[in-house]
Amino acid sequence: MVRVLLRFDKELVQEPVTSQIIIEHKTPVNILSARITPLGGEMLAEIDGRVADTIIAAFREKGVIVDVSSLIERDEELCIDCGACVSICPAEAFYHAPDHSIGLDPEKCSGVTCGLCLDACPRRALHLTK
Ligand code: SF4
Ligand code: SF4
Repeated sequence: MVRVLLRFDKELVQEPVTSQIIIEHKTPVNILSARITPLGGEMLAEIDGRVADTIIAAFREKGVIVDVSSLIERDEELCIDCGACVSICPAEAFYHAPDHSIGLDPEKCSGVTCGLCLDACPRRALHLTK
């Protein structure tokens, strides 16, 4: 699965863009989270990797901004492996590694609609990518 962040402007947010793409391409788009306001919206979704290029292109053709980059980054030099991020992350993106360091699986992150770890980190070592 390919995880993408979809950004809709205030015009697009009024239209059933996602439904249209699902129907046109006969493929599911798994919506993980969404934050929609009258001024625009963001949606985190998973797309089948076999059709990801086609679906991403379809969203972009309709004017949706599609971000496929990693959603969370850690400054390894700032991190002190305190573990504060492990318990707060609802997606279990952080884990205790065998060497007692704190591991991060950015693929599990639900990104901008969450952000809990950003404030929890005492070292400000975590950042959302853009
Ligand atoms: S932003 Fe949320 S889901 Fe992503 S790593 Fe931080 S706490 Fe976990
Ligand atoms: S809360 Fe910050 S300093 Fe602590 S383990 Fe997580 S990323 Fe590292």
